[in-house]
Amino acid sequence: MYLTPGVVAIMDFSLSEDHVRMRKLFKDFVKNEVEPIADKMDKEEYFPWEVIKKAGELGFLGAPFPEEYGGTGLGNVAYCLLNEEIAYASAAMCTIIGAHMGIAAHSIFAGNEEQKKKYLVPLTTGEKLGAFALTEPTAGSDAAGIKTKAVRKGDKFVINGTKIWITNGGVADIYVVYADLDKSENSRGGISSFIVEKNFSGFSVGTIEKHMGIRGSSTAELIFEDLEVPVENLLGVEGGGFAIAMKALDYGRMGLGAGCVGIATRCLHLSQDFANQRVQFGKPIIKQQAIQFKLAEMATKIEAARLMVYNCAWLADAGKKITKQSAMVKLFCSQVANECAYEAVQIHGGMGYMTDYPVERIYRDARITEIYEGTSEMQKLVIAMQLMRERRR
Ligand SMILES: Cc1cc2nc3c(=O)[nH]c(=O)nc-3n(C[C@H](O)[C@H](O)[C@H](O)COP(=O)(O)OP(=O)(O)OC[C@H]3O[C@@H](n4cnc5c(N)ncnc54)[C@H](O)[C@@H]3O)c2cc1C
Repeated sequence: MYLTPGVVAIMDFSLSEDHVRMRKLFKDFVKNEVEPIADKMDKEEYFPWEVIKKAGELGFLGAPFPEEYGGTGLGNVAYCLLNEEIAYASAAMCTIIGAHMGIAAHSIFAGNEEQKKKYLVPLTTGEKLGAFALTEPTAGSDAAGIKTKAVRKGDKFVINGTKIWITNGGVADIYVVYADLDKSENSRGGISSFIVEKNFSGFSVGTIEKHMGIRGSSTAELIFEDLEVPVENLLGVEGGGFAIAMKALDYGRMGLGAGCVGIATRCLHLSQDFANQRVQFGKPIIKQQAIQFKLAEMATKIEAARLMVYNCAWLADAGKKITKQSAMVKLFCSQVANECAYEAVQIHGGMGYMTDYPVERIYRDARITEIYEGTSEMQKLVIAMQLMRERRR
């Protein structure tokens, strides 16, 4: 005990007993359900419906939400633990869950009581899958530049436009769609958020993309041709959609950062195991200081990344705004995941380039983390903007 008697420690980095228990449940679930199909998801672009259903039944998909909406009430720390454990086995599965729980469910959480009961509960229980549809062909980083238009006609909104690269697109049942209610061509103030069911008239799925990594996650184009949405499916107020999207992305980025910690940790473990058994120059390569230094750097970065994630989750659970912290988490953790994946391939040498070894998949999977839910450049802009605001206060 190094504290002066009478001084109370105010920093406590330990997890609560409930969180430790949850982490054990998540670990067992991942080992039994996710790990066995991770390779199949990549090689066959297999969509893991049965695993998502099981996660829902076990109550995992409601981790960050209050119990009255099917949640565990264990908050964002539990949500981050889940993401970390899942991404340890499969970044694709973490992507599916991230779009579902992170950005789709969090958008609906901004809705009214009736909307939450009708649409959030089936997401947290895993009965239905969610998706978040913001990006368009001409609006990626510049998300406020969307061209999808909504017009109110009686008791309906009619939406026309196209979304691209929507995770869970084509497989999801419930879509949070962002569209502009302002009639003028270049307006940005009318962006509004709508809950769309896949069987609504005027909704269709276009191209399903092929991608470098996270191949078990579906990424699709959505086409809206006079899509009819009942007025009661508007989330929040008319013109309030951009704020809902940005807040949902705060939570999504935090969860994504946790997933990156899982990816990086897997890279470290695989590298340690490989370096222990690979013999060159008469001894395991782990005996080489160059390899030890790589492992030490990976471990140090992972430790920093994990602390950032859990600090952000703790702030979120304390009801604080996390825009700056979640952007920092996304920026840093995605960098760490990619650096660790790079070094893992390097430590594996030629084996790391072969599709038989998981690091090859992880290297491809990690790449997307610096792009979706806002590129690294966009995270720097968000952080800088928040810094300037803080300085003005
Ligand atoms: C696999 C996958 C899944 C996705 N899932 C979803 C989803 O579920 N829902 C959804 O809505 N979207 C989704 N997206 C879209 C994703 O969020 C966008 O790809 C991302 O925001 C970047 O947009 P962009 O690809 O159009 O790049 P662009 O905006 O065209 O950017 C291209 C490059 O320019 C840089 N750049 C752009 N503007 C600036 C600037 N002002 N300053 C400095 N650099 C800049 C970017 O950082 C990037 O390096 C997904 C994308 C992929 C690939």
